[in-house]
Amino acid sequence: MSQDFPTRISFARAQDIVQAVAMDHPMDVERKPLSRALGRVLAQDVVAGIPLPGFDNSAMDGFAIRSSDGVAPRRLVGEQFAGATAGIPVAAGECLRITTGAALPAGADAVLMKENARVEGDTVLPTQAATAGQHVRRQGEDVAVGDIVLRAGAVLDASKLSLAAALGHHDLPVRRRPTVAVFTTGDELRAPGQPLAPGEIYDSNRVLLQALLIAEGYEPVAWPVLPDDPDALAGALKDAAFSFDLVLTCGGVSAGEKDFLPAFLQREGRVHFWKVLMRPGMPVLFGRLGEAHFLGLPGNPVSVLATFLTLARPLLDALQGRAVPRPRLRARLTADVAKGHDRLEFLRGVLACDESGQLQVTPNPADGSHRLRAAAQSNALVVLGEGAGQWPAGTLMDVLPYTGLEASR
Ligand code: AMP
Ligand code: MG
Repeated sequence: MSQDFPTRISFARAQDIVQAVAMDHPMDVERKPLSRALGRVLAQDVVAGIPLPGFDNSAMDGFAIRSSDGVAPRRLVGEQFAGATAGIPVAAGECLRITTGAALPAGADAVLMKENARVEGDTVLPTQAATAGQHVRRQGEDVAVGDIVLRAGAVLDASKLSLAAALGHHDLPVRRRPTVAVFTTGDELRAPGQPLAPGEIYDSNRVLLQALLIAEGYEPVAWPVLPDDPDALAGALKDAAFSFDLVLTCGGVSAGEKDFLPAFLQREGRVHFWKVLMRPGMPVLFGRLGEAHFLGLPGNPVSVLATFLTLARPLLDALQGRAVPRPRLRARLTADVAKGHDRLEFLRGVLACDESGQLQVTPNPADGSHRLRAAAQSNALVVLGEGAGQWPAGTLMDVLPYTGLEASR
């Protein structure tokens, strides 16, 4: 196969290519009601059209008072509950019963907590004074009109959605989520639950990829397993490339007799790169097929996990314009690690807090790309930099958690 595309490139270069390609193909913007927008990437800044709080209001159940009256008894002149404004002002020596969230009546400048007063008939006897402004939430103290409260590129989580709702937004402009077609390939694969013939194995990558995608909020469509047959592969993949944003395959990208995908993509589409100097996952293939992005992950299960987390997920993030970085933490090794090869390595490990609250990571020595159990016992990838080297216990390492701990925006 003559190669007119980048090959055996550094991981950093692969990342850059993924970003650049994604920037050239941003997903469309659509409006989604807040109830359907969880996990979506915001497409435009959100500017506050109203202040929060919308009006001065009480932070407590109690009595709206004038602080200048001190501890003097007050005449109870009415009630102001959350909701419609009663319109009763508070004059010197008077107070109004008030509930949390109710508008502070004209004339009042503080709220006396219920617990700090005794009521006798229509007289309220403070047991202590309230200072000016006490237990009052001021209009606009949280958000002023014109504030940019959410930035384009933010990932809409529960608290961001709730902020948009508090500002009166019924829906928000978000990027469409890429649609993803998932293919596993290989004559040796059988679906779990079926009997195995000699030489066959269960297809574990299918559920791995589906679960990784579903956990990110995608709705992957998994095709039946593709055989190691160039025509069958070509037919199904070209078909998927018409109707999905991303065709995600695993297997068939190495240099074996049955690894047809690199030549197929070169012939039928375009190869952005093939082979990245990373481990696991070196034979990963990235390009374009028809209208779709094409990402061919290697077949080994741990390679699938590592290349998904380090290349596929960033591609999907970037297509949606996600500006929130995935967490990359620093944690201390609990055991020595060494490697003799030059490639960037993503070793599996368990990230946890030690007794003093410091992050630590326990590397799993089973580093083979077929060692699925080690991956299943871990929750993070430990980054071992390029070049052969040794990292003694106690060294601070870059760690990429499988999930969670998003930075905010
Ligand atoms: P390949 O890149 O197709 O040569 O596959 C590399 C290794 O991964 C081989 O040992 C395959 O049997 C294995 N493999 C490929 N696809 C899967 C899959 N879907 N589930 C589990 N193992 C797989
Ligand atoms: Mg194969």
